[in-house]
Amino acid sequence: MGCTANDVAVALRVAAETVAEHSAELTDLDRPIGDGDHGENLKRGFEALVASLDNAVPETPAAVLKVAATTLISKVGGAAGPLYGTAFLRAATAVGQSTELDAATIAAALNAGLDGVVARGKAEVGDATMVDALKPAVEAAQAAKKDGVAAMLSAAADAADEGANSTKPLVARKGRASYLGQRSIGHLDPGARSTALLLRAFAEAAR
Ligand code: ADP
Ligand code: MG
Ligand code: MG
Repeated sequence: MGCTANDVAVALRVAAETVAEHSAELTDLDRPIGDGDHGENLKRGFEALVASLDNAVPETPAAVLKVAATTLISKVGGAAGPLYGTAFLRAATAVGQSTELDAATIAAALNAGLDGVVARGKAEVGDATMVDALKPAVEAAQAAKKDGVAAMLSAAADAADEGANSTKPLVARKGRASYLGQRSIGHLDPGARSTALLLRAFAEAAR
């Protein structure tokens, strides 16, 4: 038994709640090294996504992920909108027409999402971006997929937390924070933090 379209929709709703709760924190992280809008951007996007899911939950997991992608691309804006949107779009393609996603399929979807973010943003681990949270999360998911969806996502969320925290001492090399050069040192990357929050929300939803 795996994750149905409805389960994916529930996970996105939990993510929307998390984003709303942490919106001010994310914006505060974005203020000193960016333009202070990351929390607001994501909150607007996830609110629109919940409104769309309230209206109708598409029939397959892929179709739900595709709605997430298009909504985030059109509503979040900035750098993060297209990056998260691409991640969800690639994840949708990766799950194909399955009606219930097992742990291995979800791990593959996370991996496809990472590939999309990297293809679009060209960041590597160590550049102080969301990739610093997402890549270790994908690796942890691959290693833990044999343990089932809930344990796998919990391991992914732990790895994402650690990866997000690792951005603090780094010099940002991509996005607005890179304009600051050395002055970006000492700041947690907002997108890495939001990636960790999203993965934690997915893990909570799967428990
Ligand atoms: P903007 O900087 O356009 O206002 P946001 O504030 O919504 O966009 O998002 C900023 C986040 O986007 C950064 O904290 C970083 O994690 C992520 N980001 C920016 N550029 C890239 C990139 N090229 N690759 C990966 N992530 C990136
Ligand atoms: Mg910003
Ligand atoms: Mg902006």
